[in-house]
Amino acid sequence: GGRSNPGGFLIEQRRLEKQPAEQRVRAFTEITLKPTAERGTAQASRCTDCGVPFCQNACPLQNNIPDWLALSADGDLREAWRVASATSTMPEICGRICPQDRLCEGACTLQQSGWDGVTIGSVEAWIADAAFDNGWVEPIRPLAERGQSVAVVGSGPAGLAAADRLRSEGYAVVVYDRHDRAGGLLTYGIPGFKLEKRIVQRRVDRLIESGVEFALNTNVGVDVTMDELRARHDAVLLAMGVYQARTLSVPGRGPNDTVAALDFLIAQNRVDCGDAADASAPHAAGRDVVVVGGGDTAMDCVRTAVRQGANSVVCLYRRDRDNMPGSAREVQNAEEEGVRFEWLGAPKALMSKGEAVVAVRAHRMALTEAAPSGRRDIAPLAGSDFDLPADLVIEALGFEPEAFAEQLDAGLGLTKWNTLQVARGGFATTLPGVFAAGDAVRGASLVVWAVRDGQDAAAEIDRYLRARTEEAAA
Ligand code: FAD
Ligand code: SF4
Repeated sequence: GGRSNPGGFLIEQRRLEKQPAEQRVRAFTEITLKPTAERGTAQASRCTDCGVPFCQNACPLQNNIPDWLALSADGDLREAWRVASATSTMPEICGRICPQDRLCEGACTLQQSGWDGVTIGSVEAWIADAAFDNGWVEPIRPLAERGQSVAVVGSGPAGLAAADRLRSEGYAVVVYDRHDRAGGLLTYGIPGFKLEKRIVQRRVDRLIESGVEFALNTNVGVDVTMDELRARHDAVLLAMGVYQARTLSVPGRGPNDTVAALDFLIAQNRVDCGDAADASAPHAAGRDVVVVGGGDTAMDCVRTAVRQGANSVVCLYRRDRDNMPGSAREVQNAEEEGVRFEWLGAPKALMSKGEAVVAVRAHRMALTEAAPSGRRDIAPLAGSDFDLPADLVIEALGFEPEAFAEQLDAGLGLTKWNTLQVARGGFATTLPGVFAAGDAVRGASLVVWAVRDGQDAAAEIDRYLRARTEEAAA
């Protein structure tokens, strides 16, 4: 068996198998080098089969990691794929973009005992890529058609995961999205150097081949009402994400002085999807760029700006490195690619000459004593102003929900954070037959949680529709 590899954990961790920075900044392709069969097997065999699957418990999908590691160490990739795809509708995507250091890999026993943990994500992506390459990923063929249909609003990971599971149960599924392409933030948020567009398209194509219908360029609440959707379908799943971008409120910020992070990322992602470049879209070539914010979106913006040929790229974040929300791995990638971080710096004003912004005036922040809540606050230091030259200022300050009730249906209950209210422990909204999942319920979160929600919401919708069918028959 593959579990007999004494000392296997000593094989060095393959984390550093990424393209050198000077090479990768020239392209929007993934920076991780794909493992060869030999290296994938070697990495998988580092699992010591510790007997306590901390990694599995730390994975939001409860993926059966020890089993697929053992199977791929044995070279049985096909069986490894079967196990991996039983709990996840998109292992090749999660394997690429989960913050594994905070999830499965962070919990790995090797990591916990001072060795480098098994690179679980890259093995997961390797298994799934092999499955696509070998034609093991077939279109869904349900055992029987159920004669009922479900509308899924939003084609991000939550919507796609739900569509996959609902189709497998034999429902007709229509996925509505206001964008011209499916994938949500997988397509138009996350840049190609983390997740290439063809990887997302491959998943969407398989759903189309499985009979899932995509109604794109369809803004629900504008082009079609909720009443129409509820009349057309037996159930509705709302998986619309959160898109209301927070903005800077500092003196000197006029309406055209800054660019929203997502507008900047979408423009590049469109080009990566094959669209012609739009000359009016924001672009960093030759510019001095300041990105305000410290989350994953900010990291994606600075690294996109480097690749577009910016003159300089600075990330301005009001807390320090240890207190930033973005992944430490992404900060390291950005630093290697030439991004400068101004930690403990907050914008104070935008400085202009004539119509054009020329600098961000910032001041230094200091972390204060820990509050009773445990969280350390920040306060500006007097007399600490400094100017960062900037002719492109990008706001990456996070997202809030749009006005769902106003847009869709006044009967939709909301939480105090304006996310969609769902029944405890489930996915039912306050409207009968209408369910909700993903960021629209959780607030800005992770792809892997959206997948989990989409899968579980599909199971709940299936139970709901079966119960209704039985009632009707009784
Ligand atoms: P979304 O992916 O947001 O999809 C929602 C879809 O609904 C969109 O396609 C939208 O067009 C559509 N929609 C909205 N309203 C309507 C309407 N009225 N009618 C029709 N369609 C509508 N997570 C990670 O795990 N790893 C990462 O590396 C990572 N990087 C990120 C980088 C960026 C720049 C951002 C913004 C987020 C990142 N995240 C990352 C978070 C992750 O992308 C989200 O948590 C996840 O995509 C949420 O999935 P979702 O399906 O709920 O929503
Ligand atoms: Fe790790 Fe994410 Fe894969 Fe789970 S889905 S095993 S957390 S990479």
